Amino acid sequence: MEELTNLVVEECGKTYGEAKAEVLKSAELTEFACSMPQLLSAEFMEVSNGVECKEERYPVGVVASISPFNFPNMVPNWTLPNALVLGNTMILKPSELVPLSANRIAELLTEAGLPKGVFNVVHGARETVEAICDNPGIDAISFVGSTKVAKIVYKRGTSNLKRVLALGGAKNHLIVLPDAHVKMTGSNVAGSMSGCAGQRCMAAASMLAVGDVEHIIDEVCNEARKIIPGENLGAIISAEGKTRIENYITEAENDGAKILVDGRNAIVKGKENGFYVGPTVIDFVTPDMRIANEEVFGPVLSILRVENIDKAIEIENSSKYGNAAAVFTQSGGAATFVAKNVSAGMIGVNIGVPVPREPFAFGGWNESKFGVGDITGRSSIEFWTKTKKITTKWNPESQVNWMS
Ligand code: NAD
Repeated sequence: MEELTNLVVEECGKTYGEAKAEVLKSAELTEFACSMPQLLSAEFMEVSNGVECKEERYPVGVVASISPFNFPNMVPNWTLPNALVLGNTMILKPSELVPLSANRIAELLTEAGLPKGVFNVVHGARETVEAICDNPGIDAISFVGSTKVAKIVYKRGTSNLKRVLALGGAKNHLIVLPDAHVKMTGSNVAGSMSGCAGQRCMAAASMLAVGDVEHIIDEVCNEARKIIPGENLGAIISAEGKTRIENYITEAENDGAKILVDGRNAIVKGKENGFYVGPTVIDFVTPDMRIANEEVFGPVLSILRVENIDKAIEIENSSKYGNAAAVFTQSGGAATFVAKNVSAGMIGVNIGVPVPREPFAFGGWNESKFGVGDITGRSSIEFWTKTKKITTKWNPESQVNWMS
């Protein structure tokens, strides 16, 4: 635990607590995979007198898993335990920005006795991914990363007749109603937008502030100010990432939005060359602004003021993404209405980062996911296996008619 956590801190720049949470989630995923035999009990039915049908599952074969930089330990563990226990062999292609965890996972699996060749790591970037998409020896590809690349991998992989599940980017909306619990909402919203320095596909990007929620916005800002770069806020992955995030903030400001908490130009003592952006809260963002529509992937929260729940849902529904959405309220009716009407795959009610626990599957809607099924949980069994249907009859034809 300690060693794997430190590797994530070293290669990704997360805080120790965030990295440990990631490794703990990997343990949960592996525990779930160990329960797979109980979930695989086959379908069996006597379909006619003396005639039986049963279904058996077989591995897909050689499969590939392509992962992003932001969860070097957890995202590979979304796929490798399930794919392996279901009998496949896997090639993992981690992000070139975070190569260390993947190597160590491979070493540990070897130490644990996994036969040679069952789990393999190949490093590289675009050309390696393209080679995976084109290689006729690979039967299925799971991809996690930006929507731009998810589309490329989905199209190229399926055009080569492979099974592909490609998870893309996100722009998650939190709908906050005036009756929401103030303290809990403040800390949840601030935590959701700034955890992992906002570099996670479940991060809060836009807060849809319904009606008079001034008191809650104040609390979100109070909580955001307690998040200090280099202390309880990790680094951005690259200089380009930091510049991209700060440009989004400056553009929103120039377009008329109001910066309530400003994380630009953050300097961490002793780590002056680190790529840090402090938590940033921007009010009076409007739906037409670029920051309201594109994935910023940093610790930045845009607040959009709306007059009612219907308008909030309309804005959420207009997003091309659909990973997560959340609602903060004390009203069961309002929460149910929002949960039913938002267009996203993972919904939080008074939860800012609604990651489902196993065996509930992880997966979004719209341009946050291409392909059928989800990447974890029970749903992954379909993706990592193919079924064989066996129909058996022992009675001689003369005695029992086939359709009798
Ligand atoms: P990315 O798309 O840049 O990279 C992902 C993978 O694709 C990496 O292994 C990379 O080497 C490869 N790649 C990059 N450019 C490529 C190209 N042109 N052709 C082929 N392969 C290419 O993503 P990232 O920056 O590493 O990760 C952040 C993104 O991942 C964000 O958009 C985030 O929302 C998304 N993400 C989504 C989920 C989810 O569950 N939906 C989870 C984690 C991250």
